Amino acid sequence: MPQIIDGKKISAAIKEELKVKVEELKKQNIEITLAVIQVGNDPASCVYVRNKKKACEFIGIKSLSYELEETTTEEELIKLVEELNERDDVNGILVQLPLPKHIDEDKIIMTISPKKDVDGFHPMNVGALNIGQPGFVSCTPAGVIQLLKRSNIDIEGKECVVIGRSNIVGKPMGALLLKENGTVTICHSRTKDLKEVTKRADILVVAIGKPRFITKDYVKEGAVIIDVGMHRGEDNKLCGDVDYNDVADHVSAITPVPGGVGPMTIAMLMNNCVESINL
Ligand code: NAP
Repeated sequence: MPQIIDGKKISAAIKEELKVKVEELKKQNIEITLAVIQVGNDPASCVYVRNKKKACEFIGIKSLSYELEETTTEEELIKLVEELNERDDVNGILVQLPLPKHIDEDKIIMTISPKKDVDGFHPMNVGALNIGQPGFVSCTPAGVIQLLKRSNIDIEGKECVVIGRSNIVGKPMGALLLKENGTVTICHSRTKDLKEVTKRADILVVAIGKPRFITKDYVKEGAVIIDVGMHRGEDNKLCGDVDYNDVADHVSAITPVPGGVGPMTIAMLMNNCVESINL
């Protein structure tokens, strides 16, 4: 039986630790405030935003909610972000993605002050990560590092293979594993002979966006599997990018879906909000 890496338990522990930190800060009259902006009412975004606000409430972070009409213009959104950038009582700004098609997401991300960019998407923070400077780190890959560390899985010197090179998962994941002294390979849709590369992995992080794509023929015996994928199957059940039942007996540790990487993203967002007072 593999070690099941329990993201629910680990994220709950992180949130408890943050709650204590926030209480300590309040005693010093320091309050943390996150501004959450949602444009339109995409059902998935509504769920994410609601969960983020709930996590803020649990930890003791104040959240300001901006629920804007789908028809909000790019200029109006930029103006709001600029106002929030200027406010001393706002520590973090989160613009829920995706935005409606008429708004340029990159332009909005660029408008958020790097010091308030708790999602870690601003090029200044992306650059900081890549040159080992302090800054906000994208929440999902930061959560993967916590899962590994808190499960006592060493990264140093390990062959780490990441499938996927998106700006929010694959690329920062590679940078973080490198920072932890892993030997990192990043695969993508043009990788030749994917199986040959993934079978070298001691730690395989899968963020390919295809349900149950990774079967045991992609995996070295005894590898650690981190499944970032999140899909709702035809049976209405959640599943990942990894075929869990096929690989489970073949590996030493694995994250389930749900209950693996998923809960870590919000925990690390909360961590970024608390860290914002030091950046
Ligand atoms: P994405 O932007 O769609 O990126 C997918 C990556 O996989 C791309 O780099 C793509 O390569 C690569 N790829 C696609 N087909 C491939 C193939 N056949 N062989 C090798 N590489 C292939 O996805 P993402 O935003 O990174 O998300 C990945 C998964 O994680 C999704 O299932 C998403 O739902 C999930 N996710 C979960 C969380 C969470 O909190 N748990 C957060 C974010 C994302 P190219 O670059 O060449 O196209």
